[in-house]
This record gives sequence, structure tokens and C-alpha cells, in this order.
Amino acid sequence: MPWFRKKRTGPIIQPARDVPDGLWAKCEACGEILYIKELARALWVCPKCGYHFRIGARDYVDILLDEGSFEELDVSVRSADPLTFFDSKNYTDRIKAAQEKTELNEAVICGIGEIESIPVSCSFMEFRFIGGSMGSALGEKITRAIERALERQIPLVIVSASGGARMQESILSLMQMAKTSTALTRLADAKLPFISVLTHPTTAGVMASYASLGDIIIAEPAALLGFAGPRVIQQTIGQELPEGFQSAEFFLEHGFVDLISVRGELKNNIATLLGYMYEPTSAK
Ligand SMILES: [Zn+2]
Repeated sequence: MPWFRKKRTGPIIQPARDVPDGLWAKCEACGEILYIKELARALWVCPKCGYHFRIGARDYVDILLDEGSFEELDVSVRSADPLTFFDSKNYTDRIKAAQEKTELNEAVICGIGEIESIPVSCSFMEFRFIGGSMGSALGEKITRAIERALERQIPLVIVSASGGARMQESILSLMQMAKTSTALTRLADAKLPFISVLTHPTTAGVMASYASLGDIIIAEPAALLGFAGPRVIQQTIGQELPEGFQSAEFFLEHGFVDLISVRGELKNNIATLLGYMYEPTSAK
């Protein structure tokens, strides 16, 4: 069985941007012992079997954008706690802990940059920030990124990684599905391209809104994609689910994903597609 058909149980390590010397990691898929520096150079893809380790939002900035081209915007947009929500702890404490852990204000970083000299409005989600969940602040940042593409007449690229809507914001987080989707309709009306990149995992409210609305949808190999979890679906429809259900490969076979791209070719693939879809003469 190829590794991407096996059930993923999550990443072995959460790669840090500053990689320490002399550390080794074991590939969860093939068991190969890997030197972490080498693994980082290979963009956190196992050189033996091709397993894609999960990486962070800032890693994708480095991988996809031309060096030095990224200008981060809307940094100050951050979550409030309108419902004074408490689960096992206060939502405000949860946000603070996530901010400290990730050194980000929200579960997404947005801005403008260039991909092979093509200007783009771009957003990169961070799964380590409360599971990349979509609250009001994240929805606002994504919407501003869409509006920025419109204002500047440039393409939009969003790299998603999310467990879905942020339950601590209840209906306010669900509203972000409509808000981001509506903004994307205006982008489509303006005939500006939107490339959606799905990484492991992209699920629930994010998958059911902007992540699945790309003109082109690209997924990383073996990314878990879907709306509800398999057990919930199985209980609802009362049927066994097919093997490999909810993998990027299954989605490709069924026409929901347009392309599966290994991480090392992601930038080149996006640049090539944007070259077909976008005429930069109108860029401001
Ligand atoms: Zn491996």
C-alpha cells in the first residue's frame, strides 16, 4: 500500500523555523531516520517515501513567495471574545496561549507578495493556532485579502490548513463562511484568478467556504480533506465509507481537486497556472 493510502495520524514533529543542529526525526510513514537539517532542506518532505510533514504559515511564505517580496498586512486584526466563552478554559486565555506559541496574532497571515514576479494577494493559515480555526478575525483577514486582490487587480492565493469554524465564537464564526464566499463572488465577477491550496488538514467550515471556491484547487499529497469526520458521516448515512475517503487523492479522482502537487513543485505550478490565467498589465 503506498504511504498516501495509509491513514494519517498527524505529524511526528512540528518543525520549527530555526532548525537545531544534530537532531534526527523518524518518518511516520516509512520509518526512515532523517537528519532534521536535511529534512528542512527538502521542505519537510521525506526524501525516501515522499511523506509531507506539516509545516507552518511562515514556512509557506518562504516556500511560495519570491524572497523578500512579502509585505504582511492586517497584522493587528485579532480575535475578540464577544460571547465571553468558556469551555475548559477562557477563550481569551486560549487566544493568548496560541499567540505565544505561534508568535502570530491570528490563525492566518495575510499580505501581498510575488510568485515568480507575479504580484499576488496571499493568505497562509496556521494550524497550530487553535487548529487553524476560523473566527471573526480570521474571516475578516481573509475577506480583506480578497478585497485587496480586487483593489489592486491581482490574483489571490490562499493556503489553507484548518479544523473548521471556531466554536468559541459560535454563529459569528459560521457567518465568516458567507462573508468570505460573498467576497469571492465579487472577485470572480472581476475575472481575477483565485488559487486555493489545501494542506493537511483542510476541513469543515473552511473547506465548505473559501477553500473549495478556488478557480483552481491544488492539494498537497495525502492531505486530509472534507467537511465532517468519517464517523459522523458513517452514522448519518448508515453506510461503510470507501477506502481512502477524504484524502486529497480521493478528491482528485472525483473531480473536487484539480491538481495534487508535491511541496517542491508548488510554487512553480502556481506560477505556471497564474501565467495562463492572469494578464498582469492591469495590475496597479
Ligand atoms: Zn518516509
